[in-house]
Amino acid sequence: MARKPILSPTRLSTYLACPVKYRWTFVDPRGRVLQRAKWYYSFGSSLHRTLEELYRRDLSGVPIKEAVAETLEENWISAGFHSPEEAEEALAEGRGILTTFVETEIQKPEGVEVLDVERRIQKDMGEYILLGVVDRINRRPDGSIEIVDYKSLRSETKPEDVRNDLAMMCYQILVRSLFEAPRYYSTIVSLRTNHTATVEVSQEEVDLFTEDLNALATEILNREFHEIEPRWKPLCADCDFLPLCKRHEDFHPPSG
Ligand code: SF4
Repeated sequence: MARKPILSPTRLSTYLACPVKYRWTFVDPRGRVLQRAKWYYSFGSSLHRTLEELYRRDLSGVPIKEAVAETLEENWISAGFHSPEEAEEALAEGRGILTTFVETEIQKPEGVEVLDVERRIQKDMGEYILLGVVDRINRRPDGSIEIVDYKSLRSETKPEDVRNDLAMMCYQILVRSLFEAPRYYSTIVSLRTNHTATVEVSQEEVDLFTEDLNALATEILNREFHEIEPRWKPLCADCDFLPLCKRHEDFHPPSG
């Protein structure tokens, strides 16, 4: 039997940003050679991997500042930076961000149980498999579950941003399939400023989102990607696939 297609928050957001970009990234192998490493992905991955390791160590008995610096250096990815100096500056910024974050975390009242970090979860949605990697899953003292996501470049997140975040809603579907709880929360931590926004998410909201998600998945899975014509949009200016789209006769970048 054929394996079901996999959809993840990254795939879904890529499609919503530009279906042609989805084609070059996930469907048509001609796009692969044009994909370049991005400093912001390297920066984000380095921070995520460091936090994963620190949480897995439980932070107990670890000299915090030294552990952060050493762990970040071990997990540092410098691909995509324009120069070694730029990478070094980003490493120093990452060190500062994570030190502040960890110091704040250990000062929080005890009682929150970290159930898992960087947890890869998949759920059979019928026509497709929904796959996601959740940064952190907490069990709060009242038994509720909190899904935590880190945004490495963001300075602030509003509660409505958390509620409308596609990835967070996917994580709600995924986490609910594994962990039962009386209530569920979503939290986004803007690592640059240590700003946190949390919202409670109801089952009704998840049900409504699931309907929209299934409709979007059906559209993606039935799309004839090679027939879509690229159209210029602001996103194109920094897109890796511009050379491929430019070959299309009706694709017209603005002049000047
Ligand atoms: S260049 Fe523009 S149309 Fe082409 S894939 Fe990139 S964003 Fe989409």
